[in-house]
Amino acid sequence: MESRPEYDAVVVGGGPAGSTAACLLAEAGHSVALLERWAYPRNKVCGGCLSQKTVRFLDRVFSLPVPALRQEGLIDFTGTGYALYIGSRRIFVEDLDEPVYFTSRERYDAYLAAMAAEAGAEVQTGAEVTAIDHAHRTVTTSDGDRYSARVIVGADGVHSRVRRTLPEGVVDRERWQSNLGWTLELAIPRREAEARADEGGAIRLDDDLATPHLILAACRWGYGWVFPNREAIVVGIGGLLSTNGGNLRDKFETFQKTVGFSAFADRKPIGCFLPLGNYIPSPAHEGTVLVGDAAGFTGPLLGEGIFYAHRTAELAAHAVDRHLTAGAPLAATYTALLRRRLIPELRAETALRNFVYRCLDARMHAPLAAFMRATKPLVIGAVQGTRSFRGFLRDDELHSAIW
Ligand SMILES: Cc1cc2nc3c(=O)[nH]c(=O)nc-3n(C[C@H](O)[C@H](O)[C@H](O)COP(=O)(O)OP(=O)(O)OC[C@H]3O[C@@H](n4cnc5c(N)ncnc54)[C@H](O)[C@@H]3O)c2cc1C
Repeated sequence: MESRPEYDAVVVGGGPAGSTAACLLAEAGHSVALLERWAYPRNKVCGGCLSQKTVRFLDRVFSLPVPALRQEGLIDFTGTGYALYIGSRRIFVEDLDEPVYFTSRERYDAYLAAMAAEAGAEVQTGAEVTAIDHAHRTVTTSDGDRYSARVIVGADGVHSRVRRTLPEGVVDRERWQSNLGWTLELAIPRREAEARADEGGAIRLDDDLATPHLILAACRWGYGWVFPNREAIVVGIGGLLSTNGGNLRDKFETFQKTVGFSAFADRKPIGCFLPLGNYIPSPAHEGTVLVGDAAGFTGPLLGEGIFYAHRTAELAAHAVDRHLTAGAPLAATYTALLRRRLIPELRAETALRNFVYRCLDARMHAPLAAFMRATKPLVIGAVQGTRSFRGFLRDDELHSAIW
């Protein structure tokens, strides 16, 4: 058991959100401890899809354009097209103007944590935070080590202990629960998937398993996906827990059959929660802020979370820096940044999500398919971040620099 010197900030959780916050704060000259419970490389259940939103962030904030990401081994696969289905009915298969990329979270997260360490953050692995004292801004790990700081950043994912120890009133628990997603995902080694790909489900995947597939109505208020990667084909299904109840496992089996992978029905998918529109509008209390999944920040339509982890961490790091250097009120500064730069976008995306899933509930498949065909360049632009979900206009609030 050890008591450490006081830090400017202690960041709990070393995923994309925590490493981004730690890196930016260390670069700004603050003393930072980043506490991660596992050793790197550690896995995270994830499709590993990096949209253009994320790629643009990595370039702008970390000077990591796509060629550098490739050189660092952070891009495993490039998706140049995509396929969209409602059930087993094909809506379209087409090329993308700009690709999406697929990464391995083992490497991606380890790289980001190493970057935070290089920037000067003290990265502690095997450090599971088990107690948080918000009043004294102290966290304690399972080994009994105590870290105190002027600010605590909760970046500890969807099950966030930091969030759960905040006082009632910060988190609207009913809203959190009703927008919480539940996912099942299985990574099938590519060689095995290729050998079985011609098994013949109702959806016939492309022969070289190179096209990302999104399948609406694979479950309620959610979708299924088949994402290609270099070494594995990632098959998953995820939707709101409140509408799917406990029967997602059956739907996953049906989904595997639909995409021709029933040969892998005996392999157990990994289950994981995913925020799906339950972002906390003001995820801060006194000296504590929440970022990424800990605060429920993912895109409500598709559950894309890597971009939001990075972006909320950037906004939070800015608010923490203003607080530490100029005495700006932490919670109010962070909330104002979120309100201006992120929340209007998430609200608009939620409205689209509600429209799409209500149409599916009402089995209005044909009109929905027509709507999707008519709006696809706009929706794809919004998913990729070249447009906003707000009226599908061009809008830079999502990407603009704040430092
Ligand atoms: C099945 C599935 C598929 C997905 N696919 C995609 C996708 O293709 N693209 C995309 O953009 N997003 C996807 N997401 C969402 C994405 O994975 C998350 O939004 C993203 O990982 C959030 O990053 P984070 O840093 O906030 O949290 P995490 O990545 O969860 O990191 C949290 C970290 O905190 C650590 N931690 C937790 N508790 C403690 C503690 N008490 N003490 C110390 N450390 C702790 C954890 O070990 C972990 O390293 C998917 C999610 C799921 C579930």
